[in-house]
Amino acid sequence: MLSVVGIGPGSLDLMTERARARISSADVIMGNVRYIELIKDIIPASAEVVIGRMGTEVERAKKAVELGQYKDVVLVSGGDAGIYGMAGLAIEVAVDSDTKLEIVPGITSASASAALLGAPISNDFAVVSLSDLLVPWSEIERKLEGLAKMDIAVVVYNPKSKNRTVQLEKTHGIFMQFRDRKTIVGIVRNAEREGCEIEITRLEDLPAFYHRIDMSTTIIIGCSGTKDLGARMVTRRGYETKYDYETGNGNGGDIAGGYVEAGNRVWEKSKAIVRDIVSKYPGSLSDTEKRVAGRVVFANADPSFLDLLVFNHHPVETGIRCIKEGKTIITDIEMVKAGINKKYRKNVQCFVNAPKSMEIAKREGLTRTAAGIRLAKEKGLIQGNVVVIGNAPSACQEICALVEEGGAGVKPALIVATPVGFVNAAEAKEKILAMGIPCIVIRGPRGGTPSAVAIINEIIELSMEEKRGEK
Ligand code: SAH
Repeated sequence: MLSVVGIGPGSLDLMTERARARISSADVIMGNVRYIELIKDIIPASAEVVIGRMGTEVERAKKAVELGQYKDVVLVSGGDAGIYGMAGLAIEVAVDSDTKLEIVPGITSASASAALLGAPISNDFAVVSLSDLLVPWSEIERKLEGLAKMDIAVVVYNPKSKNRTVQLEKTHGIFMQFRDRKTIVGIVRNAEREGCEIEITRLEDLPAFYHRIDMSTTIIIGCSGTKDLGARMVTRRGYETKYDYETGNGNGGDIAGGYVEAGNRVWEKSKAIVRDIVSKYPGSLSDTEKRVAGRVVFANADPSFLDLLVFNHHPVETGIRCIKEGKTIITDIEMVKAGINKKYRKNVQCFVNAPKSMEIAKREGLTRTAAGIRLAKEKGLIQGNVVVIGNAPSACQEICALVEEGGAGVKPALIVATPVGFVNAAEAKEKILAMGIPCIVIRGPRGGTPSAVAIINEIIELSMEEKRGEK
């Protein structure tokens, strides 16, 4: 009898009991040196071990079928023997023989790597091998293009070897062309073996990892439903649209799921349009400033904001640093606070509705928003923090007055000022620009809460990306 056995990714406790039983009772065990090494502790002393070299698979399969006529032969493959393994070849070779043949499945690298990353292939996914030793590259390229266009996770086997390096670069190029550059990508090297390494990154950053990718590496390219949830890569199946996790109640499910999928596609498309608009803009913005500007264009669906946005004194870098340090954000109105990324909202404060602000407003003849800023200053919350004004020109005027009065003692690290209105807004924003403090301003009467929120949320996102990159 010939058993073609998948031994799993490496660790013996991830081998199936059936695989183990076949190995324990084998007369002959055949496989390449790496797999034999992995199972050496469970090879019975009585078994004959035949080590094969890469490139001699056909010969090995023939020999296994031949010996299988009168002995218990085990032909081992890594992972699952039926996935880029020896199973198919053994069946082909055994077609005209009377050797009994069985295939014993194993845990394939896709599931072993997925489990280490989180749950990246929990929705539809595809598997592709970049090895062009047996398949012409043009065919692999065609498949990659088709897959890149589909919004599903793609598991990449055989990404790179000593002599095959361009295939991975070309694959990256294809996915960059058809998918969002921020798509989450997981890299697992030596899953369930010594030297296991796990990385979660973004599609655009994949080249930074090329030097650590080899023939023992599996790459999983996510799709629009793939998220990085607390350093775990998860492709959402749609539960989040069907159920409210906190109450456990369903909310009508499939239709909502469809909307979310469709929503994701619309979002991806419009982001691509914005990227294109911003990249063609002739101004001299840095890459991170372009990201922030793009977010404003996106939020308003209006490219003309590119002519109005001013970035003074490296405000994006300053903002990223502030967010990384967990600095407080002070907003002029509750609506701006409500729009800020949930992950950072615990650090956001707005005093417009504080009873104390009412008092200050009455006493000093200020608007309530200006009084809210004054109260923040009294609480020592302006110095070195971030002030985001999306609505009230009077809040801008107040911050200018406080800085002028208090000098260095009340200097915010960053001001985002996008208040709207025909009265005072443009003037107040010019004053902010003249203060010498890092700031992002939308000149003129236009702007508003959506723009302020877009700016600060993109800065928060950039800082989270940097943090992930530093890990
Ligand atoms: N039959 C195997 C796949 C053989 S193709 C299976 O089912 O897993 C060889 C490729 O599998 C490698 O280039 C790599 O992409 C992947 N691979 C095999 N073992 C791996 C491991 N321990 N960790 C990560 N990837 C692995």
